[in-house]
Amino acid sequence: VLVTSRLLPSDTVFLSDRPTSAVLLEYGSIGSHAALFTREMGLPCISQLPNLLTTVPDGEFALVDADAGIVTVRPREEHEVIFREKARDKEQAFYLARERAQSPAVTKDGVTIPVLANVGCRDDTEKAMLNGAEGVGLYRLELAYLGRAVPPDIDELLNEMQQTLEAAKGHPVCVRLLDIGADKPLPFLKFMAETNPSLGRRGIRLLREFPALMNVQLRAVLELCGDFDVCILVPMVTLPEDVLAVKEYLTNLGLELQMSSLPKLGAMIETPAAALSAREIAKHVDFLSFGTNDLTQYAFAADRDNAAVERYFNDAADVIFRLLRTAHDDAPDVPNSVCGELAGRPEHVSRLLQCGIRTLSVAPPLVPIIKEAVRNSTSTISSM
Ligand code: PEP
Ligand code: MG
Repeated sequence: VLVTSRLLPSDTVFLSDRPTSAVLLEYGSIGSHAALFTREMGLPCISQLPNLLTTVPDGEFALVDADAGIVTVRPREEHEVIFREKARDKEQAFYLARERAQSPAVTKDGVTIPVLANVGCRDDTEKAMLNGAEGVGLYRLELAYLGRAVPPDIDELLNEMQQTLEAAKGHPVCVRLLDIGADKPLPFLKFMAETNPSLGRRGIRLLREFPALMNVQLRAVLELCGDFDVCILVPMVTLPEDVLAVKEYLTNLGLELQMSSLPKLGAMIETPAAALSAREIAKHVDFLSFGTNDLTQYAFAADRDNAAVERYFNDAADVIFRLLRTAHDDAPDVPNSVCGELAGRPEHVSRLLQCGIRTLSVAPPLVPIIKEAVRNSTSTISSM
């Protein structure tokens, strides 16, 4: 059990190499990248446990029940017995759902909803495919860049992508261009410190400023097209010109490399401005993918990484569903998906489908229960 004060996204890179069973944090909020990376790895994680480092002695035995948010240090024997029974029941329910997860998720009214996975490394994709994912809806490239002194070149990046996506060969895979900035700074990018980095150069804004980074990524993705069914996602789109910039770059590369077809291009809708401009943005892309984590952060002006404002960070609030629904109604014929954490919460699946969402992409361990939630839902789009 890793007990620490805070977990940075770059720290999580090293977690999969160690035999970690749970993570306990003094600080951190549910929307933070570190929290969602641990969720993707299927690692139980509890945050906001003040004075943890002074109360849990190093090397002590502890039981972590992340569903209930309870940590028991030095448990009594009867506690341990109850805990192990609960863990076994949970494991059995999961294996049952996993068996059913190999079949498509069809709503009660007969609509098939593809359930894909969010991945960052090879382990994630392997786990996702075992759990019945129908492809990769969001490949976060950040892990390939974090913790490095220099950015990867085309071959290194291509090799990393091939390894990460190997288990999903033959299925659609969506590579998101680097979404760096804010809580995920890169040591080798030198620019003036920003007082409010979440509102500064993030995602596509940064790539437009450092086209050499975009160039390497697009060339690596185009190489990947030979072996994989790839599409490209543009992170942190705010203006239609954000996607147009990538489209132009991609078209020129396609001409240079004499490619007969180019991968589909999608926009991440994760700012309120983008959600309310879906009609305009959709004219330039093949699909939209809603990043509800950032959409919530920007709609509520509440830093997703700041536990002190967590009560404002409500990704299941009516406001968020209204933004999704408005974007859908403004671009009803454009394929869409939700790849934010909201898609991984079974209790909200039905409402997402009622907003017109037709694909879900979730952390690998959640695929089976989300498929079950789809089967218990109807797809009828409700009136607003
Ligand atoms: C999101 O913002 O919902 C999203 C999927 O992107 P990330 O969590 O990587 O910012
Ligand atoms: Mg995001």
